[in-house]
Amino acid sequence: MIFDIEMLKKFYASFGSRVERSKQSVGKSMTLAEKILYAHLFNQEDLKSFKRGIDYVNFRPDRVAMQDATAQMALLQFMNAGKDKSAVPATVHCDHLIQADLGAKTDMNTANESNKEVYDFLSSVSANFGIGFWKPGAGIIHQVVLENYAFPGGMMVGTDSHTPNAGGLGMVAIGVGGADAVDVMTGMEWELKMPKLIGVKLTGRLNGWASPKDVILKLAGILTVKGGTNAIIEYFGEGTASISATGKATICNMGAEVGATTSLFPYDNQMSAYLKATNREEIALMADAIESYLKPDPEVIENPEEYYDRVIEIDLSALEPHINGPFTPDAATPISEFAAKVKENGYPRKMEVGLIGSCTNSSYQDLSRAASIARQAYSDKLKVAAQLIINPGSEQIRYTADRDGLLASFENIGAVIMANACGPCIGQWKRHTDDNTRKNSIVTSFNRNFAKRADGNPNTHAFVASPELTMALTIAGDLCFNPLTDTLVNEAGEQIMLQEPKGTDFPPNGFAVEDNGYIAPGEKKTEIKINPESARLQVLKPFASWDGNDLLEMPLLIKAEGKCTTDHISMAGPWLRFRGHLENISDNMLMGAVNAFNGKTNAVLNQLNGGYEAVSSVAKQYKAKGISSIVVAEENYGEGSSREHAAMEPRFLNVKVILAKSFARIHETNLKKQGMLAVTFNNKSDYDKIRENDHISIVGLRSFAPNKNLTAILYHADGTQESFEVVHTYNEMQIEWFKAGSALNVTK
Ligand code: SF4
Repeated sequence: MIFDIEMLKKFYASFGSRVERSKQSVGKSMTLAEKILYAHLFNQEDLKSFKRGIDYVNFRPDRVAMQDATAQMALLQFMNAGKDKSAVPATVHCDHLIQADLGAKTDMNTANESNKEVYDFLSSVSANFGIGFWKPGAGIIHQVVLENYAFPGGMMVGTDSHTPNAGGLGMVAIGVGGADAVDVMTGMEWELKMPKLIGVKLTGRLNGWASPKDVILKLAGILTVKGGTNAIIEYFGEGTASISATGKATICNMGAEVGATTSLFPYDNQMSAYLKATNREEIALMADAIESYLKPDPEVIENPEEYYDRVIEIDLSALEPHINGPFTPDAATPISEFAAKVKENGYPRKMEVGLIGSCTNSSYQDLSRAASIARQAYSDKLKVAAQLIINPGSEQIRYTADRDGLLASFENIGAVIMANACGPCIGQWKRHTDDNTRKNSIVTSFNRNFAKRADGNPNTHAFVASPELTMALTIAGDLCFNPLTDTLVNEAGEQIMLQEPKGTDFPPNGFAVEDNGYIAPGEKKTEIKINPESARLQVLKPFASWDGNDLLEMPLLIKAEGKCTTDHISMAGPWLRFRGHLENISDNMLMGAVNAFNGKTNAVLNQLNGGYEAVSSVAKQYKAKGISSIVVAEENYGEGSSREHAAMEPRFLNVKVILAKSFARIHETNLKKQGMLAVTFNNKSDYDKIRENDHISIVGLRSFAPNKNLTAILYHADGTQESFEVVHTYNEMQIEWFKAGSALNVTK
């Protein structure tokens, strides 16, 4: 058995009493998120009512999951923590490093060869430290977690921002950096600011072309990419019961796109059915027995405004399919208005590639609905105008979809089936195109569509939609096609209307798999080898502690303008190969950020010589001379992924401060954990005062204390000075991390 049933029996036996005690202590009815959070307090003796958005709270998550690109750094840190074994069940999933090129078989061979060193490292560390290992090709982390490990009422952390996918099975699942995962694996308390709660009431029932994906595409338009920051999105209302568990997981997965800490649904028959269908009937029965504790209390449903910080209502019956993009996942447009938007904005109308799958949308329901449209295209002799790529989420789903003819339905209309891996979703796509300087459009059923994310090409306009809508647009090859109202012309010249997608939540003959790709942790220790000459793995050296002084007259490294996601700070795609080598990956630092002074990427003023050079090159030259530097940025800095490389690279290259208008949650924590100073403008318009050749001091650090602002002093090149207040959110413990040089230095 892959999951630990004894641990789960204990969990369910005590969950109800933990919730009851919490309710008594708080003195009111509880939302589901609160029940789970309070039941996971690190010390149950610490029970009190925590203030949302203010109090830092220590939790004890039940498990940890890591994907291969972030696991390398997480495990390098864990190896330095001096423990024999992970304190909680943990797994590593090899999904990010497999490049999508010619198709699953060939690509798997290439990946196994080119990533051998990293896979050997991850599997040997996993075997030694009691961590389960999912081989390359076994599947994408979140799909594998949903199929095997997620359980209602549980709490987990994962070193990937889409960890909230497990909210589809009623779990509080939170994306974190590797250093947080190390805290949990070492058995230490894991700290989180008590999140605010956004309640989303779902009424009605999805119908026709509308799918679970459209719920989150619509919500992303309402909340925007930072509307969920430091909040848990909890869905409730009668509409939740009609959405499959995997559909719920899709919705929770993409809650990451609005910056939410996590998202979750109340336990219901759909979850019970999914647990049973995936060989976990025992868990379903235990959850059924305490069902009322796995839902918000009735008073919460009756008066949601009293219990949630914000309430949003979506009527599923009236929900239209949406398409979001390009370049940002919150640019939401209902299909009925999309053609006009394409024309108005001059987006390339020809759609060149449709991509279906990823961790977000590769359930049996997703694939069977998309396949129903593919079958119609084949039988009605419609010529498929765009390329079609399918990325199954796991070997179990691939094997089952293959057995049931779903993959054949896609292949019949020319699809390439890629490996069970992230592939194009993380820039691991060797796209075959005749001209990559041409503006072009692609539609994906993935979750993120930042510039260059899929194929590294800034000319690619990526749009996000449901698998069924992606399928329809792929057949049409035209962004302005609306399958709800428009017809297509087939090879016989007939007008064809695509029928509404039809699918089933579960395979009629059950899920099946021959080799799921799982390797249980070994009993025997093996030697963990890191070649000192390796370009891909490097033993981590601890960061130096704070020298006790204010940070004085640091040259400005870059003043970034506009969106600066973790993709801009530490690009994925070809750079994924260096995720275990801090020195080498630091060469990509901030290469995607736009310099506010010249509008260019990776061209910043070197204040030592007056020239313009790559950001990492300038930082390295400052570092070589013992000079620290500072980065200035706008809103939601570090949006996107959980990759802590985006915090470790600046730290490694002697950047001491990130001064932004605001931060994305995971990234702000990552900066703190790595001993960086993350501060925000007290007055956002002070951003405009920063000049290209400024030197900047941050003073007040000798009396660094919670809730006490620091001061930034700008030294302009003309000899004038300006100063203003900057704000921080460090608590006592986080200040200790800063002083020690990193959280890991404190742990040790
Ligand atoms: Fe992989 Fe994309 Fe899912 Fe991230 S969002 S885990 S890159 S498939």
